[in-house]
Amino acid sequence: MEKSAEEVPLGRASEKAGLSRGKGPTSSADSSTESLNLPFLTEPTQVRAVLGAATPRAAPPARVALVQRLQSVAGNLAVTALLSNAANVQRQGGAAATATPTSLDAQYVAAIAQGRWGQAATYLSGFDNTQIMARLRRLSNAQRVDLYEGAEAALGYPRRMPIIVGLRFLGVAVGHEAPSAEENVGGWEYGVRGAYDYRITPVSIEVRVKINFVPDAGVTPPVSTWFGYITSMWNHYTAVDQSNRSQKRRIHFTPIQGTGMHTVNVHAGDQRADAANLYVGDSRASSTIPHEFGHLVGLEDEYERTAGDYARVTGEALPAGDTSQAPAARTIATEMHEALFKEEHWYERHRTAVRRRKEAVNAVFSNHSLPKNYSNAITRQVATMYRVIYSGSLNGHIVDQIDADSGDSHFHDWREGVVGAFEYTNASIMGNVQLAAAGTPEHDHPVQPRHVRHFARLVQDFLGRGNWQPEADH
Ligand SMILES: [Zn+2]
Repeated sequence: MEKSAEEVPLGRASEKAGLSRGKGPTSSADSSTESLNLPFLTEPTQVRAVLGAATPRAAPPARVALVQRLQSVAGNLAVTALLSNAANVQRQGGAAATATPTSLDAQYVAAIAQGRWGQAATYLSGFDNTQIMARLRRLSNAQRVDLYEGAEAALGYPRRMPIIVGLRFLGVAVGHEAPSAEENVGGWEYGVRGAYDYRITPVSIEVRVKINFVPDAGVTPPVSTWFGYITSMWNHYTAVDQSNRSQKRRIHFTPIQGTGMHTVNVHAGDQRADAANLYVGDSRASSTIPHEFGHLVGLEDEYERTAGDYARVTGEALPAGDTSQAPAARTIATEMHEALFKEEHWYERHRTAVRRRKEAVNAVFSNHSLPKNYSNAITRQVATMYRVIYSGSLNGHIVDQIDADSGDSHFHDWREGVVGAFEYTNASIMGNVQLAAAGTPEHDHPVQPRHVRHFARLVQDFLGRGNWQPEADH
């Protein structure tokens, strides 16, 4: 049974603070808040005195209610930390409560040395704020991140508050994100499922992506080689505060083999990979693996995208069509329309008509030497002309009119190739890096600032100041 706040034996101080009114919404306009003596809360020894008087006889739920009540009206991190820590010292359970200060420190030191971070956090929460801060300052950045996670895992609110507030004061934070998106690539729908942990230290933001490789029988994933492709492709950026360029944090990606985040099946051979299926014989593994890693951190594809999607995802101007080819583009657009809208007779099966259209489309591509999958200046002009003439999307019509597998193999890839010919692709790591070699406009680096901008943003959001942008510098 939960005790109400009215049972907290606080004496006059609590009545003055409005705590006997019980639970309820608190805002600056709340009458109980108005009756709280806020200057009182800013004086540490007086806060301790109130908590010390309240805690010995109160049951844990009431003490927690008291602390939370004070926190809700104080709204000040330092006061919050102080309050919860004072409560910790009073109601410390387990080892920390019975230990003398000396042995408490010895236990804390031993837990740190042995990497028992949850226990280290438990012992540390038995100290007062000054002692906690002194110990946090002695830790390395990596130890601080581990302790942060130990505190979050092992300590409930508010016991972990002083430690986490102290670590954040020292520039450390951890978090988890799982961005997802639905995307249309080459006329087909896919899902992007990102997931990663991040750790912000005073010098870096480390993005950790756990991948559980599940190989087919007899297949051994070349994990260290693949992880090498990922880190050499992705680890070149630093988040820099544009309003104070001395402030920097490296953006560092760390793939880890482990369970609980992503599952990737690994097969023999050299087929087309996706974020959930990789091939040990992949002849383009040095770009395939970093591309799929991009999906694991939530990025969308940048190939075979519609004009609208391409502009949204890349933020770049669309590659133009060739207006000098307008007459040829008009001819091709007309032929494509004729091919796509070849009639379907009542006496034939649907896929017979689909096959007829498909063969007609193949003839248009062959007669005009059009590229598959990736647009050029002429096919982009064809798409523009088609829209002008028919008030509809060429890609949309391809998908609508050739909507069934006509029985021959590779229907999926065939239609993607035709649709992709009128869509937008770049040569970045999320597009098709092979296009760079084929003479398509090349970027400075396959990983572009937009691909890592979100991680600079996480730093900015954590610090709450500056204008943090990614810069390639290593
Ligand atoms: Zn992809």
